[in-house]
Amino acid sequence: MAGGDIEKAKANNESNIRNLKLSGHVGFDSLPDQLVNKSVQNGFIFNILCIGETGIGKSTLMDSLFNTSFESQPSPHNLPTVKLKAHTYELQESNVRLKLTIVDTVGYGDQINKEESYKAVVDYIDAQFESYLQEELKIKRSLGTYHDTRIHVCLYFICPTGHGLKSLDLVCMKQLDKKVNIIPIIAKADTVSKNELQKFKSKIMAELQNNGVSIYEFPTDDETVTEVNTSMNSHTPFAVVGSTEFVRVGNKMMRSRQYPWGTVQVENENHCDFVKLREMLIRTNMEDMREKTHARHYELYRKRRLEQVRMLCIL
Ligand code: GDP
Repeated sequence: MAGGDIEKAKANNESNIRNLKLSGHVGFDSLPDQLVNKSVQNGFIFNILCIGETGIGKSTLMDSLFNTSFESQPSPHNLPTVKLKAHTYELQESNVRLKLTIVDTVGYGDQINKEESYKAVVDYIDAQFESYLQEELKIKRSLGTYHDTRIHVCLYFICPTGHGLKSLDLVCMKQLDKKVNIIPIIAKADTVSKNELQKFKSKIMAELQNNGVSIYEFPTDDETVTEVNTSMNSHTPFAVVGSTEFVRVGNKMMRSRQYPWGTVQVENENHCDFVKLREMLIRTNMEDMREKTHARHYELYRKRRLEQVRMLCIL
């Protein structure tokens, strides 16, 4: 059937649909519950890629976000190449299981030839798409049990210099923005003063815009989150602080960093944007990022790859 005929057939079907009233309870209103139960039973997968120089605070922030210790080993500064290292963890909160993969860019930005840094990241992201595509193309596919390693979000750690982005930051984000949801964050924000931070944030956003880099925007089309997401979009890039130390505040132990002149509390919204990041990344938009990875970024990769295969067949 040609494209036009399919459209006509669809329109005919739509016009044939009648609205009927039920005279009693049937039970399909339990469909949303059935969906929830099934999802909870299967568990969830979420994959985070942390991009940033060695020592910028990636591992500490991951420990802070998930309130645990992932026991990562510090990386040296003198690696000849960038390597992406993935670790997968099983976490459980109430009855919800999360298979979390954290990918670290070991050695990022440490070499003289910076080009190699982003290439390793691009190759890694593509390799995960390819592996999913190969599973999808199998005659007997088992996507239900397949460990999906596609990256759902990339946290890009910006150095707290106060001077804007480095060329490597711009080049890397530009290479990745059609492949992954990018959330830029200012690392170690406790090292930048309050006034400088506002200017730094505006400068980063202007540089991203001027260089045509699209970052992930918290979705505003779902009315239950429109307000919060709109407000949070105006706060990006989040300026965050991480810590593995706890200090007693009142009767609670809080993640904090202690200095001779005072204490920075990670979860204090007057001190940094950590809570905003956690809210957006984990509590409000995790599912949207999973969905956009599949429907937008993977779809683009899949289309390009299948076109390549078709061209090869024609030749
Ligand atoms: P990674 O190599 O990027 O994983 O960096 P780490 O998380 O291992 O942190 C490197 C060092 O920076 C450690 O000494 C951390 O205590 C420190 N650090 C981590 N987060 C922060 C932060 O938010 N502010 C400050 N001032 N130091 C931090």
